[in-house]
Amino acid sequence: MYSINETHDPNLRSWVESANDPVTDFPIQNLPFCMFREKSDGYVRPRLGFPIGDFVFDYETCREKEVLRHDEDWEIEKALSRFTYDFNLTSAVEGVGAEVFSTLRNHLVQALRMEADERVRGKVEKVLVPISELEFTAPFQIHDYTDFYCSIYHATNVGSMFRPDNPLMPNYKYVPIGYHGRASSIVVSGTDVRRPWGQNRSDAEKPPVFIPCKNLDYEMELGFFVGKGNELGQPIPISEAEEHIFGVCLVNDWSARDIQAWEYQPLGPFLAKNFATTVSPFVVTMEALAPFRTPAFERDPDDPQPLPYLHDQQNQRFGGLDINLEVYIQSEKMREENIEPHLLSRSNTKDLYWTIGQMLTHHASGGCNLQTGDLMATGTVSGKEKTERGCLLELTWRGSEPLTLPSGETRRFLEDGDEVIMKGFCEREGFRRIGFGECRGKILPALN
Ligand code: MN
Repeated sequence: MYSINETHDPNLRSWVESANDPVTDFPIQNLPFCMFREKSDGYVRPRLGFPIGDFVFDYETCREKEVLRHDEDWEIEKALSRFTYDFNLTSAVEGVGAEVFSTLRNHLVQALRMEADERVRGKVEKVLVPISELEFTAPFQIHDYTDFYCSIYHATNVGSMFRPDNPLMPNYKYVPIGYHGRASSIVVSGTDVRRPWGQNRSDAEKPPVFIPCKNLDYEMELGFFVGKGNELGQPIPISEAEEHIFGVCLVNDWSARDIQAWEYQPLGPFLAKNFATTVSPFVVTMEALAPFRTPAFERDPDDPQPLPYLHDQQNQRFGGLDINLEVYIQSEKMREENIEPHLLSRSNTKDLYWTIGQMLTHHASGGCNLQTGDLMATGTVSGKEKTERGCLLELTWRGSEPLTLPSGETRRFLEDGDEVIMKGFCEREGFRRIGFGECRGKILPALN
């Protein structure tokens, strides 16, 4: 696990003035990875960059021009050279030790800090691109995607709608529940999402019908990317789990609740979840998150302790994450009337019953091989309070308590034209606030 070092110093300031704005998501202490290109240049391959304030530091161009050359850092050189044929982080991260990226983070800080060498600064200034001019691609080539169900509040709420007497299944406090999702339909923030068609059996007296989804929903989740993989057959001990996690992003696990209700038994979600999953483009590294680690969820005294393969002292003390998550909605009418997006919920990942380390270790515990770039998501992050419910299913209690938007419209589930905007950030006394950027997607009408 990363410790706090000079790159987290809250007094560090950047010569990029917008990075010193107290509300920016991207101060010098953050430096997430992203793959970007100019909006006007759809055919140009994406390049590696690091957002800083209102800009992206075009690191790849910078290196090609030999602006920043750290000849002593052969490992960084070797890793970054792989971008040229892959256009994403997957092969650059594969097989590269965490210390390499730690060194890189330190180099970035040295180049961007107020006290940077004048000559370096002059050259970096030439490769800063305004974020507003850019579009982003998925940061990794994602081979596999797994979605967990780790918020006990979400699981209890959803369970009580379907099984009022027995909301939590008996396995919940022993097994990090999850399902294998679909990687091919993962899209990056800003991509429109088409309302899916599917089987609906809302009338139990009649056979199902094949119609456009009626109960379309979002799920506010935290995603994490596998850095180092493991060999088939070789589990990952919980004490080493964090060494395999590269960083995190925001995830919207779009869900078709009517399709889900009819198809989910006995094997779990299928088409209700596979039509689209949206990720934010910025990978916030585990090192940047070092100041925001928390103890694992404090279990009720009556709850079982995690089984030994999921139990580790370090993980219990620091395995949690203090990340604030927010969901906003803006309907078509709101856009037309220039009404700002409306806050739907605020929740925090420290309320998750399982840590991301436990999720990863459990995933590999039977010998399943994880690969660099695999995406795992926590499941809907909900808290105890009503205002902390991370999906509409919970917020409107399966549609029975519709929400009212500032435009006067009501919502049970998502309507065509609605845009869902997710945000995330970390704050802690004595440290610089860091943010995750946005994860947004707008609903298009179903095909005819
Ligand atoms: Mn989910």
